[in-house]
Amino acid sequence: MTAAERHAALVREIDAHNYRYYVLDDPNVTDAEFDRLLRELRALEEKHPELVNEHSPTQRVAEQARANVVKVRHEVRMFSLDNTYSVEDLTEFARRVKAGLSESETVRYVIEPKLDGASIEVVYEDGRLKMASTRGDGEIGEDITTNVRTIRGVPLSISHKGKLTLRGEVVFYRKDLESLNAERAQEGLEPFANPRNAASGSLRMMDAREVARRPLRVVFYQIVEGPRLHKFHSESLDWLAKEGLPSHRRHVAVPWEGVTEAILSIDRARADYPFETDGAVIKVDSYAQQDILGFTSKFPKWAVAYKFAAERAWTKLTDIQVQVGRTGTLTPVAVLDPVQLAGTTVSRASLHNASFVAALDARIGDKVAIEKAGEIIPQVVLVDMEARSGDEVPWQMPTKCPECGTKVMARLLDEEKGQMEAAIRCPNRLCPAQVKAQIFYFARRFAMDIDHLGLALVEQLVQRGAVKDVADLYDLTKEHLLELERMGDKSAQNVIDSIQRSRERVLDRLLCGLGIPQIGQVAARQLAEQAGTLEHLLSWNEEQAREQVASIHGFGPKMVDAVVAFLADTEQRRIMEKLVEHGVGQPQPKETVVTEGPLVGSSFCVTGVLSRKREDVHADIRALGGTVFDSVKKGTTYLVAGEKTGKTKLDQAKKHATRVITETELAILLAGKELPPA
Ligand code: AMP
Ligand code: ZN
Repeated sequence: MTAAERHAALVREIDAHNYRYYVLDDPNVTDAEFDRLLRELRALEEKHPELVNEHSPTQRVAEQARANVVKVRHEVRMFSLDNTYSVEDLTEFARRVKAGLSESETVRYVIEPKLDGASIEVVYEDGRLKMASTRGDGEIGEDITTNVRTIRGVPLSISHKGKLTLRGEVVFYRKDLESLNAERAQEGLEPFANPRNAASGSLRMMDAREVARRPLRVVFYQIVEGPRLHKFHSESLDWLAKEGLPSHRRHVAVPWEGVTEAILSIDRARADYPFETDGAVIKVDSYAQQDILGFTSKFPKWAVAYKFAAERAWTKLTDIQVQVGRTGTLTPVAVLDPVQLAGTTVSRASLHNASFVAALDARIGDKVAIEKAGEIIPQVVLVDMEARSGDEVPWQMPTKCPECGTKVMARLLDEEKGQMEAAIRCPNRLCPAQVKAQIFYFARRFAMDIDHLGLALVEQLVQRGAVKDVADLYDLTKEHLLELERMGDKSAQNVIDSIQRSRERVLDRLLCGLGIPQIGQVAARQLAEQAGTLEHLLSWNEEQAREQVASIHGFGPKMVDAVVAFLADTEQRRIMEKLVEHGVGQPQPKETVVTEGPLVGSSFCVTGVLSRKREDVHADIRALGGTVFDSVKKGTTYLVAGEKTGKTKLDQAKKHATRVITETELAILLAGKELPPA
């Protein structure tokens, strides 16, 4: 056998094993055997560099992070799906399908699980993976080719030579997400709340080497266009599997009479699927019929999603514990007999606040129903009053902080959020629970970004009194850390290095980390620009502070009061002075205010998940003369609403007659063009 032949054989074999492992979930070699093949391939390529091509399994991961985000236009718009929740809605859908076609035609439907992840488009040309992109706003997505190449279930080459455009969903298998979250917890990072966020977050990362470490999967569910390979969608799905392309292989094609049963059988089976499924998709099978039916402005008329009702589980409420947060607020948490719910074991659930518990009349020992709100955090939704034996114990919010014993106080919650009930809080600034939460917050990504400082570590440090506030972090030595349980030399060094590195963060990040009430990322930056350095900020007396802060563009009275109060607080001052002594925080570079440009006079609030970092979007807006705010207020011109924009922001926009625009519309403005009237 020649080297080239051996090379080709190895590539084929490795691709086939990847398919069995990542798509069929049914490997037939051990990991060690697989590694041996990969090593042989690497060795062969080292000896014969001329054999290396970009479709070799050794070349999945790019060597460098991508430098910027490249937009791509989808040749065919990526539509979303209309949702239905009842059999009546479905019947209505079928009626419209019938009405759109000529009377004599019979219609066959394909029913597939609806996967809960992030949608992507992948284009193969001449048998090679050419391009992968996110959905974006449906018309313009983001080029994520280097990231998708790292997903080992996606073949880099296929035998089909024509152009092939596929749509699919990037998902995490539940078991993979669990191990990823365990790893993140170790590193002190927040766990992903659900597979959907985890998938879309992973796909957007700039560094493909990071993406490669995440166990992503792709499931293709559609062939988009081109010379049609098949007459029926169901044939296309079968063909995908034959080509070695990942597809779910869980679809059925049935006449209308079989649709309900097919949906039910997915609902029954979905707890056993390796991925999260939030519904079923019902599609007209015949491409000819699909073409006749066409699209509305948002959805295909030939497909609809059927959403499953939230899963509910009953279990026993064994206790109600109280958690103390960063600002001292006491939150009741339900402790439950562990129960399976939507694929995970649930043993705790949120109870929000004392009035919520009172409204439910939940007592310890009760039989309660729990649901996942949007498949994320489990909530107690109902108490089974019939099941009461009389031994259940009513619960009351403690009058003393469970962590430090200080008498608690009531405070009105933020009126803006429409919450008028009293929040109960522990007023003790030195309360260990608050200190822990503050330090953890300080270390987070958007603030001081300190790696390796996980919850468990912070917990130990605070418990031992080694750290009493965020400034104490900079006094820590390796020796302090080595005294802790399970702390090796290497990990201790990593922690110290990360803390030391965080000294270099610019002032606005430091201010974010301190958690000044009312002050978000944009405001923190404005405040940092106004002050320049932490030292200068501390040099203002109360009067000066009020004057300086009130002069910042867009700072309303509430924000001014919050900052002034924070600066006047002796405990906060003491901490900030220690930070100055330790030389933490770099001076804030003064952004030159752009006074000319197409966006002068326009103001923006940017929210939701966008295709790039919010900071970068802000910078682009400012560069053209626009101003940026953290929230929508009177006079705000535009609300740029990314995916998952919160209802509060949209309501504010309505109230202030602020125009809500998409990321694409923003791109038009950034290109110096005008938007058509709303
Ligand atoms: P929605 O985002 O709720 O409008 O639902 C539409 C999205 O569902 C599509 O953009 C896809 O990302 C996703 N989806 C998941 N599974 C399927 C499937 N089997 N067929 C079509 N779309 C699917
Ligand atoms: Zn306390």
